[in-house]
Amino acid sequence: MTTPLSGLTGLTAVVTGGASGIGLATARLLAGHGASVAVLDRDPGDLPAPLRGFTADVTHDRAVRAAVEGAAEALGGIDILVNNAGVGAAGTVADNPDEEWHRVLDVNVLGIVRTTRAALPYLRRSSCASVVNTCSIAATAGLPQRALYSASKGAVLSLTLAMAADHVREGIRVNCVNPGTVDTPWIGRLLDAADDPAAERAALSGRQPTGRLVAAQEVAAAIVHLASPSAGSTTGTALAVDGGMAGLRLRPE
Ligand code: NAD
Repeated sequence: MTTPLSGLTGLTAVVTGGASGIGLATARLLAGHGASVAVLDRDPGDLPAPLRGFTADVTHDRAVRAAVEGAAEALGGIDILVNNAGVGAAGTVADNPDEEWHRVLDVNVLGIVRTTRAALPYLRRSSCASVVNTCSIAATAGLPQRALYSASKGAVLSLTLAMAADHVREGIRVNCVNPGTVDTPWIGRLLDAADDPAAERAALSGRQPTGRLVAAQEVAAAIVHLASPSAGSTTGTALAVDGGMAGLRLRPE
């Protein structure tokens, strides 16, 4: 049994894509630290107490606005916004038609624009406002077969920096996390589709210097740190949670 933490008591948080994986782990951890938390997801499903679910697809501006307003009303404001909803895409530039580019950029990039735009009036009223975007190592790593996904996350990184600059004087901090390969239902689906899931898991784990996949709770811990008032002087940064993948150059064994 862990001791309940209380560092975020009295604060309110909205987590997009909070019904699964990194988002769910983040919503639970924020609540565990004492925050009141709303999950905004296209399919909130059955959320564990005390999380409150709001249904919205981040590609639908009106639905996002209604869900953010509903969440702010239910929670009594918004201090923390975690823009985490995202989808993957495989392939080179030759593999995806324009429609697929529009679909993925609509979720991964414009989704952040829509939720942030809707949440800004509430964030401006907070005395410790913070936005954390879930980016990816793909933003900077040059991964093969991930042209569209990498471009979308590159845009999330640039957007994070631009938003941090635009809102720093209003007291709103904006940061992002760059996870490596994280053990979530998303990766579970990828592994299930592989010819040899165990071999694929071993290959993904081996890409990371730590030799294992990142746990969703480890990404959540980084997000909660960036979101919390104790990171009050941290804005415009990308925190890697990637098992050393971006920073380390190990010699072959
Ligand atoms: P996941 O599939 O387990 O969860 C994603 C959640 O987002 C789901 O609850 C889903 O319903 C929701 N969602 C998807 N599209 C949505 C939309 N249009 N509107 C509203 N909700 C939507 O995935 P995850 O692995 O937890 O990934 C979460 C984030 O982390 C994504 O932004 C992803 O790009 C990023 N990320 C994941 C990994 C990884 O290896 N899993 C690595 C780096 C970055």
